[in-house]
Amino acid sequence: MTDENTQAQQTEADKRQNPLGMHDILPDMHEYFTYIKKVVRHRARQAGYKRITTPILEFTDVFQRGIGDATDIVGKEMYTFTDRNERSLTMKPESTAGVVRAYIQHGMKEWPQPVQLYYIEPHFRYDKPQKGRYRQFWQIGLEIIGESDPALDAQVIDLANRINQDLGIAHLFTIQINNIGCPKCRGKYKQDLVNFYIGKERSLCEDCQNRLHKNPLRLLDCKQEDCQILAQLAPKFDQYRCPECKEFHTKLKDYLTELKIEFVENPKLVRGLDYYTGTVFEVWDKTQGAQNAIGGGGRYDGLAELMGGLPTPGVGYAAGIERIIANMKKENVRVPSKDDIHIFVAQLGDDAKKKCLTLLNDLRERGVKAVGALGKGSMKAQLRLADKFKVPYTLILGITEVREGVIIIRNMAKGQQRTVPHDTVIEEVIKLIGDDKLDKYSPGEVLY
Ligand SMILES: [Zn+2]
Ligand SMILES: [Zn+2]
Repeated sequence: MTDENTQAQQTEADKRQNPLGMHDILPDMHEYFTYIKKVVRHRARQAGYKRITTPILEFTDVFQRGIGDATDIVGKEMYTFTDRNERSLTMKPESTAGVVRAYIQHGMKEWPQPVQLYYIEPHFRYDKPQKGRYRQFWQIGLEIIGESDPALDAQVIDLANRINQDLGIAHLFTIQINNIGCPKCRGKYKQDLVNFYIGKERSLCEDCQNRLHKNPLRLLDCKQEDCQILAQLAPKFDQYRCPECKEFHTKLKDYLTELKIEFVENPKLVRGLDYYTGTVFEVWDKTQGAQNAIGGGGRYDGLAELMGGLPTPGVGYAAGIERIIANMKKENVRVPSKDDIHIFVAQLGDDAKKKCLTLLNDLRERGVKAVGALGKGSMKAQLRLADKFKVPYTLILGITEVREGVIIIRNMAKGQQRTVPHDTVIEEVIKLIGDDKLDKYSPGEVLY
């Protein structure tokens, strides 16, 4: 059944669910998101990257020029619509084109070069939804714009690898690298590739027949068996690489070796986007290869010009957050949950409820994560609720306790309780939880 049919069969009731391929990020998945963002922010900051957020909507032109009409992304996968002013807008299917648009627009060439930017953003592609693939998906990404040097490519790959190490999944992947040449050497190769396939069109899948004259490099990484057999026989790029591209690639490999990064040379790796030049790389699953890649990137020295800017080299990397999480879960990588509640406050009576409001605030101010049952439930119902929150301690404030100026601390696991004076309860609670477990909040110093 095609996806279109599935959509058509959605009943009115189904439409109360999220659209196909879009997904809610529920609190347990956010624990992973929070952790991944923390790792990326930390590693990017250490290496001098600054964060950028480009809008979700760009003029369609940004992607048509940059990514190219002949790619699957632009050809079939973009969410494009005309706005109320008859302008064609597209929900970003990736971020590099938008980041380069921003670089040109804001005159970042006047900033110290190269400009290093990172992002953590949602993207949208009308792709066939399948396991691990979504139509709204999140990516982390790194871009170094304004300089061309194999040492920069090596550093991007190193940082990508380091992030995967921090996330506990690097050992599942190999780093596949290739150099797809500059317009000079690639032009000649493309021509010879087309010539090789001419007369063999009938052996190609429909997609490849369409791609042959628009984007012949893509024929090399088609997954169809017949296309793969032909790709084996097709001319190899190695013999076409010009001396400059050869030297660039050799240096990149030297630097990766210097950085002790294992990589696999893959002459068939081309990547689907028109804007890549020179270095391309992908992070492949060790057992499933490209099928389960979590990320990839490469050099895009021609992109700024395609978008109407001055020639500006760049190199970048992007990885899918949902796929990273799937792999972390597969490896049983646990992330610290900061959502656990320390204290539940149960109360009975109007006076107790009032005292409770202040008590909750005072606890939170000291870093104690506290919730209270402020509804009208019985004491028994409130304690049942405390159990559901899996809190280690509950504070109980009833009519008697308010009158006597005390409060009960209940150890939920042991079922034991003791009474302490109301004005010492916060110190008692902090002692029980442990100073290092508190969720202290410090917004940092504001400078004027
Ligand atoms: Zn070249
Ligand atoms: Zn094919």
